Amino acid sequence: MPISASEILKRTVTTPDPANSNQLHDVFALPAGRTLDICLNIQSAILEHKLAPGLKLSEDEVGEIYGASRTVVRAALQALAHSGLISIRKNRGAFVAKPSIREAHEVFQARALIEPAVARLAAEVITETQLANLKAHLEAEHVAIHSADMGHALMLSGSFHTAIADIADHRVFSGMVRSLISRSSLIIALYWKRSDTACESHSHNALLRAFEKRDGGEAEKIQKSHIIDLYSGLDLRDQTPETVTLSQALGQKT
Ligand SMILES: [Zn+2]
Repeated sequence: MPISASEILKRTVTTPDPANSNQLHDVFALPAGRTLDICLNIQSAILEHKLAPGLKLSEDEVGEIYGASRTVVRAALQALAHSGLISIRKNRGAFVAKPSIREAHEVFQARALIEPAVARLAAEVITETQLANLKAHLEAEHVAIHSADMGHALMLSGSFHTAIADIADHRVFSGMVRSLISRSSLIIALYWKRSDTACESHSHNALLRAFEKRDGGEAEKIQKSHIIDLYSGLDLRDQTPETVTLSQALGQKT
């Protein structure tokens, strides 16, 4: 029997990292408090692929898990819907979003346009402290990969991209990148076809070297090829089976 949403959420109830919640504040546009905590918790569970795309999130269950009122839960789910992680269907409730093939193409096309430009900006303004933080982030990514904590590794590789957007210090871009990265995580959960991890650390290392040299052109080039490479790792063929007649399917000549 597949594990239920409530089982998974119960296991992932953690205290959100305040540094993280500041960053996410822009996406959820929520004041610090219960609603934001629930948002962050569910977001982590989705980004770590603990909650699968398409899974139903019932208001009652979520409320019970977090000991929160229906109003608080509803506000949290609405905020998550706003960030694209959850879809709310009329009369049916909230579900972990399940991006279509078309959305997958569009998200990666947008990333390939925006993120290289953001990487260039970041390389031009990065400070020594930010460089050190980015290095530490990359090390945490390596540790997670080597300890086979793939959910955590996946979340860290996504937040490496949002960290670059924060360094670029451009609020519109960083909001866009954050939303694209969240959606990408769901897209990767659904359509990733390679056996290796989505963000191989090779590209992230190369980016870091370009940042160290403050080489905007180089950072832009590396980020572009990294995202095109990620895009090519997705199997976005139309999965809908063609309608065939019974005789075609059974190989009979008509
Ligand atoms: Zn990456």
